Order: sequence, then structure tokens, then C-alpha cells
Amino acid sequence: LRRALDNGEFHLVYQPQVDLRSGRILHAEALVRWHNPQLGEMRPDRFIDLAETTGDIIRIGNWVLQEACAQMRRWREQGLPIQRIAVNVSYRQFTGDNLGDSVRRALAEADLPGHALELELTERVLVDDTPDTLEVFDQLRLLGVQLSIDDFGEGYSALNYLRRLPIHALKLSQSFLKGVPGKPSDVAICQAVAGIAQSLGLGMVAEGVESEAQRDFLLRLGVNVGQGFLFAPGLLPGEFAKRVAAQQDVA
Ligand code: C2E
Ligand code: MG
Ligand code: MG
Repeated sequence: LRRALDNGEFHLVYQPQVDLRSGRILHAEALVRWHNPQLGEMRPDRFIDLAETTGDIIRIGNWVLQEACAQMRRWREQGLPIQRIAVNVSYRQFTGDNLGDSVRRALAEADLPGHALELELTERVLVDDTPDTLEVFDQLRLLGVQLSIDDFGEGYSALNYLRRLPIHALKLSQSFLKGVPGKPSDVAICQAVAGIAQSLGLGMVAEGVESEAQRDFLLRLGVNVGQGFLFAPGLLPGEFAKRVAAQQDVA
């Protein structure tokens, strides 16, 4: 893991975030992949925790930020109307590094405005709101990047940070959507999360949309943006571009 970055073993795939009504691609979420000659292709679940423990996540996370912004720049130069790229950020990047500086640099190198980038944070970032964390939030707010809470409801969910911090959207965890529409307790949690987002004026993105029944359920709840295998898994940049270009031809 320590040498993987220098050896160029990471790459990013991009999962479309779509308008649930039309299926039209709006945004992309960058997801890291590690391909090691001995170990093969690995999903982040197998190495992110370790990288957080060792601290390697800071360098890896910076690379992800730079690469995602550079990819967004290339798509823009191809004239593709992708509004925003979302990048997952570990809590360690918040506490261990000057995240504000890294984000500013990545945007500047790719010549992107702040609103072209979204950072997906975990609830863990929000729980320990030390003065340092608040300072990072302030810098990110000034840069104009969008902030969302990934897997909302899986962690601590202290609701009071939602009104204090510059959060724009909640991501409904796929662990709750899994039981929709059959399992009443999952349905209730999805309704509650959508209610929190709507009352606080936050956006909402559903993840793990796998079936038409889930899509219909979300639309009835007023959730209009989602991602999941019903539409596409993480795609290589060329495939992502092809799909966005194809929807332009239709329009
Ligand atoms: P996440 O950010 O919640 O990403 C969603 C995960 O669900 C992705 O797995 C995605 O491939 C998967 N997924 C998407 N649609 C569906 C679906 O319809 N059904 C199912 N069952 N799964 C779906 P992936 O790529 O393995 O990523 C897992 C987690 O690893 C991510 O969860 C995120 O927390 C973390 N991660 C990924 N990339 C990065 C990164 O660059 N930095 C950091 N810090 N964490 C990352
Ligand atoms: Mg995410
Ligand atoms: Mg998730």
C-alpha cells in the first residue's frame, strides 16, 4: 500500500449520478480502485481502513482529488455537460492535513471553479468539531465547493451539525434502500432521512438504486437524484464520456 501510489497502481472509476425521472447523467462520483500485480484489483473496502490507520490515506486522498479534478477538466474540454464531480474524503484528511490548501491547489491546477467539486464527508468528520475542523469547513465554504454527508444515518447523526456547518446535501445510505419497498423499517428510515433533508433545505442523493421499484419509491418521496447499478456502476472515463455524449445527441 505504501508503494502503490508511486508505482501508479491506483485509478479512478466514475459512477453517474442521474436525474431519477429521466435517467439523464448530471454528476459523477469518483471511486478509487487499486490494481496490484500480485493482489489483483481491489475495492476500497479492502484498503481504505488500513490506509486510514497508517496515514497513507492523506497522500492517496490528495492524488484522488487531483486526478478527479484533472478528469473533470478533460471532460470540460471535450464539451461534456457534467455539472460536478464528487470525491470521497476521509476524516483523516480533515484532521491530518490542510485539506483547504489541497482542495484549492487541485482546483487551481485544473482551472475549475469551486462549485464543480463536491466533497463527500462521513459523519465521523462532523462529530469531533475541534476548532481545526471548523477552520477547514470555513476554508471549504469560501472556496465554494459543495459538501455532502455520505451514508447518512449509518453513523452518529448528531443532527445539530447540519444547521451549523455548510452542508449542502445528504446521501441516503444504500444499506437503508436495500430493504425498499418490502421492509417497513427501511422504508420508514428512508422517509425520515428525506424528511430531514427537505425540512432543512438540503439536497438529497440516493445511492445503491438497483430496481425500478426503488426508483419509483424515491420519486414518490421527492428524491430526484440517485446512483446505482440500475443506471451504471463505476465507469472508466472514456465510457462515462461516451454515455454523456450519447444523451447530448438525443437532446
Ligand atoms: P460510497 O462512497 O458510499 O460509494 C458507494 C459504493 O457503493 C461504491 O463501492 C459503489 O461501487 C457501490 N455501489 C454503487 N451503486 C451500487 C448499487 O446499486 N448496489 C450496490 N450494492 N453497490 C453499489 P466502492 O467503489 O467499493 O466504494 C466503497 C466505499 O469506499 C465508498 O462508499 C467510499 O466510502 C470509499 N471510497 C471510495 N473511493 C474513495 C476515495 O477515493 N477516498 C476515500 N477516502 N474513500 C473512498
Ligand atoms: Mg461516496
Ligand atoms: Mg455509501
